[in-house]
Amino acid sequence: MVFIVRGFRQSIPDSEYFDPWESQNWDFHRRIAGWYRELPVHLTTKEVSTRMRNFNKLYGDLFNSEEINSSFSRVGSEKSIIDAAVVGSKFLVEWRDISRAIQLIDDGDGQVLLDAEVQEAMPFFSYKSSQVSNSLISLKLQQYTTVDFVKRLKTSSNRTMALRPTSLAGWVWALICRDVVENITYTKCSGFEICGRELPNLTPSGKMILHCSGTCQKRASRKKASSNL
Ligand SMILES: [Zn+2]
Repeated sequence: MVFIVRGFRQSIPDSEYFDPWESQNWDFHRRIAGWYRELPVHLTTKEVSTRMRNFNKLYGDLFNSEEINSSFSRVGSEKSIIDAAVVGSKFLVEWRDISRAIQLIDDGDGQVLLDAEVQEAMPFFSYKSSQVSNSLISLKLQQYTTVDFVKRLKTSSNRTMALRPTSLAGWVWALICRDVVENITYTKCSGFEICGRELPNLTPSGKMILHCSGTCQKRASRKKASSNL
């Protein structure tokens, strides 16, 4: 079993938080894959930064922002165009890796993401040469999560090992890991045409859900009521 620690949230610019647990963003990784697929083939640096800014406004930074700042703006001045491009490409490369991982999972080949040996067959992921002996998922988890020990039940004295995301990218890769290890499958929410959300057969909190949100639940029950008239 893969457990994810509750309580991770990403701060967003206007001093609020994006809390993927609270907002039940169990399909966040799959939506990023969808957004990546919809991108035009060629993007200018400016277009990349616009996408990144729009994303950050809603969900906060994909990475631990300190991690990026320490390497790119130590001098304390505004980021140069080149630095901004580096940050932008890091963002885009991560989107691409997420999208390719989801594609493999959807094609029924998700297990290769846990397999270190097949790495050479997948040169399209952003491996660093110093990390060659790990599977893609273990690399991503090393990069964006840490391990914690949690009580699954308040009354229990036993602790279980769980992944703690250290950034939004960690939340995404923890979900991908869970999908592969536990064969999580997704179906469209009843309001998919409007909300665009998918529902896992089992959420990280161990629940089965029928709608992505209260809004879709209400819409579905209204629809049902009107069809019964
Ligand atoms: Zn919905």
